Amino acid sequence: VPEGDSLHRAAARLQPLVGQVVSVEAQHPRARVLGVAEAIDGKRLARVHAVGKNLLLTFEEGLVLRSHLRMSGRWTVRPAGAPVAGKPWLVLRSDEHQAILRGGAVLELAFDATSTGLLRGRLGRLGPDVMAEPPDLDAMVARFRAADQDRELGDALLDQRLVAGIGNMWRAEGLFLARVSPWARLRDVSDEELRRVLEETAAAMHAPRRRRLVYGKVGRPCPRCAVPIAAWRQGDDARTAYWCPACQGTPARAPRQLARRT
Ligand SMILES: [Zn+2]
Repeated sequence: VPEGDSLHRAAARLQPLVGQVVSVEAQHPRARVLGVAEAIDGKRLARVHAVGKNLLLTFEEGLVLRSHLRMSGRWTVRPAGAPVAGKPWLVLRSDEHQAILRGGAVLELAFDATSTGLLRGRLGRLGPDVMAEPPDLDAMVARFRAADQDRELGDALLDQRLVAGIGNMWRAEGLFLARVSPWARLRDVSDEELRRVLEETAAAMHAPRRRRLVYGKVGRPCPRCAVPIAAWRQGDDARTAYWCPACQGTPARAPRQLARRT
């Protein structure tokens, strides 16, 4: 599942095409009907950057292509002339490189006269990017405080309007590192704890090839205190939360039962 960190890596891979005039082709039928390729074909790519779970490709004259990768989308970059298999959603070609988008994508064109990436509408509602350096913790905390304080912290961390870029795995790891329970209600979480969770999550997402501590480890001993890691579905989307019932604190409401998910 692409998360914020993989989006930033994709943005880095695409940098060699920045400044280049690109020819663009859509081979996947679902991409073809969008008419995106025709709109950006022959334009100069001015900027590629990640905002939360979106990859934004800004072209000259302020045309912005938003690509959200959902579960299976992937941007790869190969040398010009290398064979391209199958029917990718988009192929952007410069003299030396080709960038290929495959699978599960959301593609949307928008116009951004300021070229800041702060588009109106959908993107304008995204929270501060967890991968920004440094992350804007004050702005994130302000958004969490403006949200319904009855919400569980683990659920709120996946709300892209509060903070953009955190997926299921990193919320589990970040909460564990900060020793805060996913089941704590926002009103019971101090600003300091909230900042610690967001800071630890951002740091973990920047660390290369980090070993997972609790995500997917249900029933395994906690690396800190050896109590078995618990797992339970959380929130409207029923994403599985993983946590240590001992060293992450356990609000009265936390599920006692362990769930094994296949
Ligand atoms: Zn523990």
